[in-house]
Amino acid sequence: MGLNESGLFPVKDALEMVLIFDGAGEISYANDAAEKELEYDGDLCGSNICDVFPNEFRLEEGSLVEECPIGYEVQNLVAYRKNFTCFPVKARIIRSETHPGMYVCMADDTVEKEYLSREIIQAKQEAQEAQKVKTEFVANVTHELRTPVNGVLGNVRELMGEEKDPRKSKFLWTISRCCEDMNKIIDNILDFSKLEAGKFTLEPRKFNTREMLDYVKANHASKITEKGLEFFMTVSPQVPEYIIGDELRIEQILNNLLSNALKFTAAGKVSLEVLKTAQVKDKIELFFIVVDSGIGIDKGEKDKLFESFSQVDASISRKYGGTGLGLNICKQLVELMGGRVGVESEKGKGSAFSFSVWVESCEENTSSSQTDALKKAVYTSASLTALAGDGQENLKQYGTEENQEALKRNLSKLILCVEMENWEKAEMFMETIRQLAEGAPREVGRILLRLKMAVQKENYDKVAASYEELKAFL
Ligand code: ADP
Repeated sequence: MGLNESGLFPVKDALEMVLIFDGAGEISYANDAAEKELEYDGDLCGSNICDVFPNEFRLEEGSLVEECPIGYEVQNLVAYRKNFTCFPVKARIIRSETHPGMYVCMADDTVEKEYLSREIIQAKQEAQEAQKVKTEFVANVTHELRTPVNGVLGNVRELMGEEKDPRKSKFLWTISRCCEDMNKIIDNILDFSKLEAGKFTLEPRKFNTREMLDYVKANHASKITEKGLEFFMTVSPQVPEYIIGDELRIEQILNNLLSNALKFTAAGKVSLEVLKTAQVKDKIELFFIVVDSGIGIDKGEKDKLFESFSQVDASISRKYGGTGLGLNICKQLVELMGGRVGVESEKGKGSAFSFSVWVESCEENTSSSQTDALKKAVYTSASLTALAGDGQENLKQYGTEENQEALKRNLSKLILCVEMENWEKAEMFMETIRQLAEGAPREVGRILLRLKMAVQKENYDKVAASYEELKAFL
């Protein structure tokens, strides 16, 4: 903002009109808004205030006579333009304290203001309406998609039960997996649009905590075995057996965190720990932490993780798939349950995703105030290495005992997949082997490259040859 010539007011660019005039009504300062609204061409200074407000001021023997209240805000004054047309304004006229005999007038075009605020309200309503239509459309489309997907899935499962030819069975299995994946995406989009529209409601009911956790663990058992990972689950004795909370949604968050942990971990371990970290009467805070020894996340990317449609980079979505909605849904669900999400991660070392939720305890003795708060504090400030455990470093370092063991394990799994002609899975083990062999001697690198090409080209003989060569090295 600029200052006027007398340095009195920083009002040059103000949106309201500002006029300064003397006891004879002569205008000595007019800001840009006043020039524009009153349609003068830079010649408002030098004109008389009686020309602008003829109903409020008049001249008597060269002196200004006030016909309107001074010092108060007055509605519906009439301001005249240079061309004698007029418009209503809201104005406040004051006598200058620092410059005796001078007046300052600040005025606003009420019609334009009302018009603008009406426009803003209308634009806001239109935006809300459009958002509602979009949300309903997304909800309807995804809902409609679910019927045909489930139709395909049901029929494919029927066929799978009858099919004897292993080749055809494999195709059917792939179709059913694709349908399941599509259902997961549909569910995510539905949840996301409901959460965005504020239409999401929790459904708390009594459930057995350990049974829920066992069920979650069982959900991921095949993936854990398939990838040859270690899995640990620890539940603090402070966690009550029965609680009242939204079981399905807690399960959903855990499933999402665990499937991410398994997706992004090629070798090593994944763990889940559950603690009771606070209690207020019969309400308790449960704290869940999922730690993995996977690819980890760059420091700079961590903040974006919980935003919708956020994936660390395009190569991640190409390689691992996903919609980037899972963590955002988790965050929104956790916040609905009065908790918070957190993440600690180091590129190449692994990640620790945690969240807390408030639930009701069904335990008889609800007065028990014993909690694992200290452990939570340690976890939230601990370094990832401490969380993931020491063995992980050795595992990733080429040549160590753990590393060579893991390499051998993954090589035999790769060979098994190749023998069963499951090339897709073989490629997955190939990737793990590549990661485990980072830092290996050049000769090993060359053999690995040949092995990778052979897997990609689905050439059994070449895979077998490279495998033998590699075995000799390990
Ligand atoms: P998506 O369905 O794409 O996995 P998420 O919201 O669950 O969506 O995850 C978003 C992104 O966060 C992932 O694409 C990945 O880049 C990163 N991410 C999530 N969990 C992990 C993890 N355990 N290790 C490494 N990166 C992760």
